[in-house]
Amino acid sequence: MSSSSSPSVLLNTGVQMPLLGLGTYKLVGPEDVYQAVDAALAAGYRSFDSAAVYRNEADLGRVLKELLPKHGLTREDVFITSKLGPKDQGEGAMEGALHSLAQLDLGYIDLYLIHWPGTQGRVVTDQRNPGNRAESWAALEKLHVQGKLKAIGVSNYTPAHMRELIQSCKIPPALLQVEFHPRLCQTELRKVCEEYEVCFQAYSSLGKGELVTDPVVLEVSKNCERTPAQVLLRWAVQQGVPVLPKSSNPDRIKDNARLFDFTLSDTDMDRLSALDCEHKYCWDPSEVV
Ligand code: NAP
Repeated sequence: MSSSSSPSVLLNTGVQMPLLGLGTYKLVGPEDVYQAVDAALAAGYRSFDSAAVYRNEADLGRVLKELLPKHGLTREDVFITSKLGPKDQGEGAMEGALHSLAQLDLGYIDLYLIHWPGTQGRVVTDQRNPGNRAESWAALEKLHVQGKLKAIGVSNYTPAHMRELIQSCKIPPALLQVEFHPRLCQTELRKVCEEYEVCFQAYSSLGKGELVTDPVVLEVSKNCERTPAQVLLRWAVQQGVPVLPKSSNPDRIKDNARLFDFTLSDTDMDRLSALDCEHKYCWDPSEVV
C-alpha cells in the first residue's frame, strides 16, 4: 500500500488524513519506537499519533528521519499528530506546542490537539478550565496561521466542550479524538462532529487489548475469518471513523493494517454496535467543567 493509495478522510482544512494510524502511547525508547515505526511503514501505515505526555516525540522524529528514506518516503508522505500536555493548558500552551515542534523536529506538525479539556493540577470543577481551554486554542490558532501546525483539533472533549469551542473560536477544530469502540459508540459526540464538520477519530479501538476476547467480537471474527482486532478496527473504518491501534509487536502491527480488503455484513456491524454500554477503558472527561 503506497501513501497515495492509503485510504483517507478529508479534513475541513482540505487535507487528506489516513484512516489508519499507529498509536504510540507506551511506545518508549529509541529501539522500541524504531522497531514499531519500521514495521508500520512496511505495512502501509502513513500516520503516527504521539503526544507530549507520551514522552516519545523526540524518538519518533529521529526515527522517522532515519526510516523514511529506507522506505522510499519523504516527510510529506506521513501524517504526524501530537498533543498539548494537560500541564501546559492555558498560559503554557504556546511554549508547550513549540516544545512539541522542537522535539519532533520535522518542520511542522500535521495535526496538533489539546489533549484534555482540564488542566493538570486543578480539580475537574475548577472554574478557570474554560478560560484555559480558550487560551490554549488561541495559541494553537496562531501557530496554525504561521503554518507550523497544519491542522488543529481537540481530544477528550464532551459535547458541551465542543459547543463552547465552536462558538468562541476563530478557526474551527479539524478533528476530535476520543475513545470509541463497540462498547462506547459516542452517538451524541458523533452527531456534534457531523453538525460542525469536525472529523471524529477513534482511540482505544481494541479496548486497550481487552475487547479482543469479547464473545461477540470472537464470533464475528470466526464468521469472517479475520482476527478480533481486525474486526474491531474494521467496524470503525467501515463507518468512516479513523483508527489508531497501538502495538509494539511487528506481526500485530502488520495484521492490524489489513482492514481494507474485507467488509463486515450489516448484521455483524449491528451486532457489534449493540454492545454499546458506555464503557470507558480510558480517562473520563464528563466531569470537567
Ligand atoms: P488500543 O489500541 O485499544 O490497544 C492497545 C493494546 O492492544 C496493547 O496492549 C497491544 O499490545 C494490544 N494489541 C494490539 N494489537 C493487538 C492484536 N492484534 N491482538 C491482541 N492485542 C493487540 O489502546 P490504546 O493504546 O489505548 O489506544 C491506541 C492509541 O490511541 C494510543 O496508543 C494513543 O496513540 C491513542 N490514545 C489517545 C488517547 C487520548 O487521550 N487522546 C487516549 C488513549 C489512546 P501489544 O503492544 O503487546 O501488541
